[in-house]
Amino acid sequence: MAVGGGVIGIIIYLIYSFLGGDPSQLPQSIPQSETSQLSSEQQAADDERAKFVKVVLADTEDVWNKLFADKGSDYSEPTLVLFRDGVASACGNASSASGPFYCPSDNKLYIDLSFYQELQERFNAPGDFSMAYVVAHEVGHHIQNLMGTAEKVSRMRSQVSEKEGNRYSVMLELQADFYAGVWAHHAQRMKNILESGDIEEALRAANAIGDDRLQKQATGEVVPDAFTHGTSAQRMYWFKKGYETGDISQGNTFNEP
Ligand SMILES: [Zn+2]
Repeated sequence: MAVGGGVIGIIIYLIYSFLGGDPSQLPQSIPQSETSQLSSEQQAADDERAKFVKVVLADTEDVWNKLFADKGSDYSEPTLVLFRDGVASACGNASSASGPFYCPSDNKLYIDLSFYQELQERFNAPGDFSMAYVVAHEVGHHIQNLMGTAEKVSRMRSQVSEKEGNRYSVMLELQADFYAGVWAHHAQRMKNILESGDIEEALRAANAIGDDRLQKQATGEVVPDAFTHGTSAQRMYWFKKGYETGDISQGNTFNEP
């Protein structure tokens, strides 16, 4: 019974968080998965992933430091927390199934290494750049926090219906995708980081973790009102727009139909 409940709990979690659930609303009594026992090969693969995440984060810092300096302000860098078997954040506890997230209350980026493994194995988005895209998207939420957009939207949300509020959440998510694209644009100019096929890889990751795909996999049907990350097409559109323009001022996802 205990094992069954745990597994069901984890599945509910997985669905909840992939649908864009806010980690601050996670129930506190999550059935924690057993601490994973990684083989030495798995551990080596995890170490590689960890190293990769740190390099990408450093690349985002170079880009955002420059873009903030261009506007005459300072970029305050987020703190990275790598985890695998669950983690406690200022936004609540997260299980390993909650995937990567950003917590605005502690300015930390929580990157779930088991999610990366899953991205590689389950979503057919195996390349390095799809992992970079996930980091850049979470950093996008940090940018929204620094710019006050996240706070403005949560104020707006409290004044409208749940359905309307969900639309605002989608726009926030799409803007984080846009910022990931802006990062890729400048990282390419500064360091020539991209290999051929990388942008397609990022778009495939955006596509793989778009809510419509996940909802289809979970329920067999798509329920647009429950979307919180946007459709795959919307996510690709905004990532591409950021990548092509490299211009933060063009990321007003709130004004575009
Ligand atoms: Zn997001």
